[in-house]
Amino acid sequence: MTGATLRHVDPAGLEGRSGAAEAADAAVEIAKALVRDARRVVVLTGAGVSTGSGIPDFRGPQGVWTKDPAAERLSTLRAYMDDPEVRRRAWQGRLHSPVWTAKPSPGHLALVALERQGRLDLLVTQNIDGLHQLAGNDPGRVVEIHGTMHEVVCMACGERSPAAPTLERVARGEEDPECLACGGILKSATISFGQSLVPADLARAEGAARRADLLLAAGTSLGVHPAAGIVPLALGHGVPVVIVNAEPTAFDDVADAVVHGSTTDVLPAVVGG
Ligand SMILES: [Zn+2]
Repeated sequence: MTGATLRHVDPAGLEGRSGAAEAADAAVEIAKALVRDARRVVVLTGAGVSTGSGIPDFRGPQGVWTKDPAAERLSTLRAYMDDPEVRRRAWQGRLHSPVWTAKPSPGHLALVALERQGRLDLLVTQNIDGLHQLAGNDPGRVVEIHGTMHEVVCMACGERSPAAPTLERVARGEEDPECLACGGILKSATISFGQSLVPADLARAEGAARRADLLLAAGTSLGVHPAAGIVPLALGHGVPVVIVNAEPTAFDDVADAVVHGSTTDVLPAVVGG
């Protein structure tokens, strides 16, 4: 009955782990080679790049919305417009956000290095924290496809202004500050669920993705459209795609290289100095 003999299993699982580690090393080498040979890189970043700066991810396994789905309601345009309590909570969240004191992560700095190498065409970010610009990327090369929390916009008259004065009003006790010009509802200049992206921003990102010689998607699970649609768009135009993300993404099977790891660790290795 040798067939029933228990198969020896390495208790530490070392054999499997070293195999996985070798595969990861190989993926990093392929990604490095693709980045090294590229001259016109378009980068798409998501929350994973900013978690290295201490800013929580909303949709990841430890995400704010994953643990508290009701919190996602705060980012729904209709709830924001209809419910003063949602606006009050949203302003408190903005006022106490870790973004205001965050420092760029090694992942951010690697993308600054890519620009200084003269090989970054456009940096499209789903992040609203402004950390790419703070790290040193040229604001003219950054498209904030989901807007920015550094500005506020009036939902009635459309006036935009820096966020700081409005947040000072919140800190002084105005729970739902209204537009000083027209009395309308003010909102962070971010794209909420149920709100359209700025067409010019999306068009610029899509145009760059079509013309790129490499698309690097970093720190994004590529689950939010239309931003994630940049990946199949690039692939459809024969543009190689490299994905760096802690978790699997919807496009891992069709990308040219996939590195599963934190952007803090992987981006400096892939982009180089
Ligand atoms: Zn107004």
